[in-house]
Amino acid sequence: MVTVLKFGGTSVGSAATIRQVSRIVGAAEGKRLVVVSAFAGVTNGLVEIIESLERGDEQGAVAALGHVSERCASIIHDLSLQGAVVEKYEEEIARLRALIPAILTLGEVTPRAADAILATGEIVSSFVVAAFLGALHLDARMIMITDDSFGAAHPDEAAIAQTVSERLVPLFSQVSIIVTGGYIGATKTGVTTTLGRGGSDYSAALFAAALGADRCEIWTDVNGLMSSDPRLVPTARTVPMLHYDEAAELAFFGAKVLHPLTIQPAVRCGIPVVIRNTFFPDGAATRIVGTVSGGGMKAVACRHGVAIVHIRSNRMLGTYGFLAELFEVFRRHRVAVDMVTTSEVSVSVTVDDSLALDALVADLSLLGSVDIERGCSQIALVGAGMRRQSGIGARFFSVLRDINILMVSMGASDTNLSVVLAEKDAPEALRRVHTAFFEKGEE
Ligand code: ADP
Ligand code: ASP
Ligand code: MG
Repeated sequence: MVTVLKFGGTSVGSAATIRQVSRIVGAAEGKRLVVVSAFAGVTNGLVEIIESLERGDEQGAVAALGHVSERCASIIHDLSLQGAVVEKYEEEIARLRALIPAILTLGEVTPRAADAILATGEIVSSFVVAAFLGALHLDARMIMITDDSFGAAHPDEAAIAQTVSERLVPLFSQVSIIVTGGYIGATKTGVTTTLGRGGSDYSAALFAAALGADRCEIWTDVNGLMSSDPRLVPTARTVPMLHYDEAAELAFFGAKVLHPLTIQPAVRCGIPVVIRNTFFPDGAATRIVGTVSGGGMKAVACRHGVAIVHIRSNRMLGTYGFLAELFEVFRRHRVAVDMVTTSEVSVSVTVDDSLALDALVADLSLLGSVDIERGCSQIALVGAGMRRQSGIGARFFSVLRDINILMVSMGASDTNLSVVLAEKDAPEALRRVHTAFFEKGEE
């Protein structure tokens, strides 16, 4: 029996929570690969160092580094760790400190340098947690092989299968618990990379797939995947079982509790994913499985940072090939399109609001008139078998009757009904949809 147990930032946010992690890992059986995130707040602190360096603000970078090192040092101290761990931690901080003048001289934070900074969180947390658990530490960069798309590196699953079987599996014949870091990896030539924010869930699933694990447990600070984000909707309740497709939609549409790509490796290998609360280990949890999860609506998610691009053109009328031309422009500019709706003379698509869109818009303008609406949010109601149930749309739209809806989609996936609206309207819309579907006992 092999289990991958991933603990997020808040689960390793203090000495007390790391003691709790130790109890959970100790109570589990068989071979255990423990994947940890950076201590809570540390990755954000590292982002602050990068942002200060981008502004050329040396003092700001040094101050942010001070906060990061204080947080790590106080956890190491509170866990009464001494000797080699303290030395290793000091080496990592010294490495970061040395990067600051080097980057300032260069006058630019390259994506590669940014990853060298961002990886520090998981490098430190993984050897600290390993030392406290008295477990073996394996640097994730020895096994998580990626390409060099710094900041959002793509894992090379064939290479990972090989490193896991050559470097990780043999260790399990000597010990039963191994600790490694999530989120970080390295190229084939050994250059440090990261998988993108929230990427530790993805690491856990990739390791589970490469190991052929029996299950992948995501330990976090809420009781599993809930009917909505409990921070925005306090009445949200745990969804006990979800199909992979439903979980993938929810993760993609903003349920931060699960990284959107986590599901892929698990689905391929048929590994059940379980989401549990580190602080209530016996409380409600969510099992994500490949067989039918039971009907009904499961959850409503909200994703901010959406922009709508509207393109209007009379050339669309009665011709063919217009959409192909249009999407070729998005392809050329490497802008991913999420939602699409069309009318006789217009097309509206959603894209990531944080992208610079000027060059794209200039090229799109050759096809028609272009308008951009920024600052939007998407609300997605998720539940398999939606197309076979009547009344869902009526209930959804009737609670939003006085809210301005900018786009609507209910697609072939059969698992989600989405609307795009102004970000200011999103919290209210989310609560109303949640009330209508999850608080009245109809579902
Ligand atoms: P971790 O550090 O353990 O990876 P995250 O902060 O990434 O934890 O994800 C957990 C958070 O996800 C919760 O605290 C919650 O606010 C948020 N969240 C958003 N949508 C949902 C949802 N549908 N169910 C549970 N949590 C959600
Ligand atoms: N520490 C990283 C982050 O905060 C990765 C993770 O926690 O999943 O984004
Ligand atoms: Mg997370």
